[in-house]
Amino acid sequence: MSDKIRVKSPIVEIDGDEMTRIIWRLIKEKLIAPFLDIDLRYYDLGIKHRDETDDKVTVEAANAVKEFGIGIKCATITPNAARVKEYGLKQQWKSPNGTIRSILDGTVFRKPIIIKNIPPAVHKWKKPIIIGRHAYGDIYKNTEYVIPGPGTAEIVFTPAGGGEKTALKIHDFRGRGVVMGMHNTEPSVRSFARSCINYALSEKVDLWFGAKDTISKQYHGFFRDIFAEETEKAKDALQQAGIHYRYLLIDDAVAQVIKSEGGMLWACMNYDGDVMSDMVATGFGSLGLMTSVLVSPDGKYEYEAAHGTVVRHYYEHRKGNPTSTNSIASIFAWTGALAKRGELDNTPDVTAFAKALEDVVIRTVENGVMTKDLMLIAEPRVPKYARTEEFIDAVAEGLKKAKGSNA
Ligand code: NAP
Ligand code: MG
Repeated sequence: MSDKIRVKSPIVEIDGDEMTRIIWRLIKEKLIAPFLDIDLRYYDLGIKHRDETDDKVTVEAANAVKEFGIGIKCATITPNAARVKEYGLKQQWKSPNGTIRSILDGTVFRKPIIIKNIPPAVHKWKKPIIIGRHAYGDIYKNTEYVIPGPGTAEIVFTPAGGGEKTALKIHDFRGRGVVMGMHNTEPSVRSFARSCINYALSEKVDLWFGAKDTISKQYHGFFRDIFAEETEKAKDALQQAGIHYRYLLIDDAVAQVIKSEGGMLWACMNYDGDVMSDMVATGFGSLGLMTSVLVSPDGKYEYEAAHGTVVRHYYEHRKGNPTSTNSIASIFAWTGALAKRGELDNTPDVTAFAKALEDVVIRTVENGVMTKDLMLIAEPRVPKYARTEEFIDAVAEGLKKAKGSNA
């Protein structure tokens, strides 16, 4: 008889590319398969298979996450011209993450993993700072124009189906200059706010939103008002969970985050999220410690590592050289999905397994076994680093021991 833990409902597994694909297989073989009886709905988003299926597999994978509610994804190549040549692709396929995000209409949350002997750059940070980035519009879908000489720039709105045009002057130029138009939409901002509320409830952390509504009274004010309305609608749920919503000016938010111990979800407008998530990731130590989850407004979850396919390490691996690639964020993608699956299925043993695996990973690093990226910043210093497989093997050993002592 198998003493594996049974996972009640399926999880969608989305495979990927290069070094992370290698890590993915090791995790599955050594940390998941021996312990769990699990129905994985497998989609191969490796670049070759995306090319063979004309990228249909990406759409199928996203629809499967919609159907089953929970997915885990390995990092994937977003091809540029050089990649098209390298892999002999039919065309420059779109970013899989972009495709999946637009099908799930989701918001991306990034959360660092905290380990005692990997101190953050900001000494006061004790708990994760989670960034929720609005991933639609603003300068990422803008129209800009270099003004060649004297003249007037305006914003013009033409109502559909006729009606009076509205023209607003931006500036009377006396010479060369530059101008930009950008937009956002109410449904997008609303679903961003709702995703942030859901995620704050799911993580049981306070929710902060920062913008510059003193200067941008309409544009930033639009975001502020929608956040106020949506948090008001969710007032009871937030109150019951002991979660506070705070609106701050964006510069105040930056100062408060640096002075804080962490432990909040910081909802950011698109550009702020782009910039601040890199600051927070670097501040907490390594890209290999940054997890990422896509949450849709109707409560579907897709977990992944925030980093890419670590292509430099993969080229070394292909030459037959040893690598030391950090697998922690990828392992935490699995545990994040399993913990959520357990919660939704009401199977506490699955959630407990996920927690146990996370504990073993953290203890392994705290005992001095870590990959090179962490060795360079660990305090106290450790004499040597583990290779990619050595680290996963050490975690597997720790997990067997932990299971044994619980039996
Ligand atoms: P990357 O894979 O994030 O790696 C950039 C550098 O960060 C690595 O060379 C390595 O630095 C360090 N690093 C990242 N993850 C690490 C880990 N787990 N352990 C140790 N070091 C780690 O970015 P990239 O190499 O620029 O991109 C490679 C491919 O990934 C691209 O084709 C891109 O399209 C794709 N990508 C995918 C996703 C996704 O699927 N979510 C996200 C981003 C990028 P050192 O070289 O100094 O060791
Ligand atoms: Mg960025």
